[in-house]
Amino acid sequence: MHEIIVNLHMHTRYSDGYGSHEDIAAAACQSGLDAVIVTDHNVWVNGPEDYYKNGDRRVLLLVGEEIHDQARNPQKNHLLVLGAQRELAMYAHDPQLLLDSVTKAGGMAFIAHPVDPPAPSVRQDDISWVDWNVQGFTGLELWNGFSEYKTRIKSKLHAIYFAYFPRQIACGPLPETLRRWDELLTSGKKMVALGGSDAHALKLSLGPLRRTVFPYEFHFRAINTHIFVPRPLGEDAEADSAMILDALRQGHCFIGYDLPAPTRGFHLTAHGLERNALMGDELPSKGGVTFQIRLPMRAECVLLKDGKLLRTWHNRDLCTYNTTEPGVYRVEVYIYYLRRRRGWIFTNPVYVR
Ligand SMILES: [Zn+2]
Ligand SMILES: [Zn+2]
Repeated sequence: MHEIIVNLHMHTRYSDGYGSHEDIAAAACQSGLDAVIVTDHNVWVNGPEDYYKNGDRRVLLLVGEEIHDQARNPQKNHLLVLGAQRELAMYAHDPQLLLDSVTKAGGMAFIAHPVDPPAPSVRQDDISWVDWNVQGFTGLELWNGFSEYKTRIKSKLHAIYFAYFPRQIACGPLPETLRRWDELLTSGKKMVALGGSDAHALKLSLGPLRRTVFPYEFHFRAINTHIFVPRPLGEDAEADSAMILDALRQGHCFIGYDLPAPTRGFHLTAHGLERNALMGDELPSKGGVTFQIRLPMRAECVLLKDGKLLRTWHNRDLCTYNTTEPGVYRVEVYIYYLRRRRGWIFTNPVYVR
């Protein structure tokens, strides 16, 4: 399998972002990404999907959409729609109808920033997902860079501080989002987790101060989704796009916070009696299963089963674990960066049945 680095969930001038698709492609090339997925609010922009070149680098730009009901107040229930290749925002008023329409169009639906608390000091509402009784979503955005920023803003001063020192923000997915995800997983559902940046390249002006808050380049070096695909990216944008979306659908990916140190090279595999499995795959428990975890450098590695801590390894770059117990197994990795213990890697689960 080949590992590719993808940044997803971002906005252009077609909604409330400040850059163009070309700006995003240029920033993505500079940041060394393989692909980006642009998701403007309530508009599916048809046309810009393609490979973009910048010097000797290139990036594949895909277009999805972030849909929510604009008539709803506050505007909760944001859904990331990927691979539908058509406009679906007209179904936003009814989340179940929207999800059914995504399925019918052959697309995937991921709950965006499932938990997104209010930040009253900068007049930001709670825009969490609330309709948890709906059926048919592919997964959720486990780690959203912008929701985490909102949790850190206790005053206007905090908002400015973190805008100037964005490296201080990220510590990991919000605990309530992790709890929600584990709850869905242990109820027997397959639920793919993605990492999203929610990049806007916002312009902040405060008296004489003018600054682009969290430029695209910053996000593209931070919370990425690392996807395992069966062959390297080629020349055909359409075929490569289909391959990436298929790998996402299967959950063949992990979330890597690449800013403190690159997460490229991380691996979680499960080895059974008859076959092996990647993150996102199912494997029978019969005959036993061995997990192999390989880290790009020594760190704290945590194995969880059904949302509960099973084993922690400290300062290790290779970990193995044997089991015969059915369950949902996933891995979290933590490192120290800027004097704090921070989440570094969050994998999709291996489902041992
Ligand atoms: Zn949103
Ligand atoms: Zn967004």
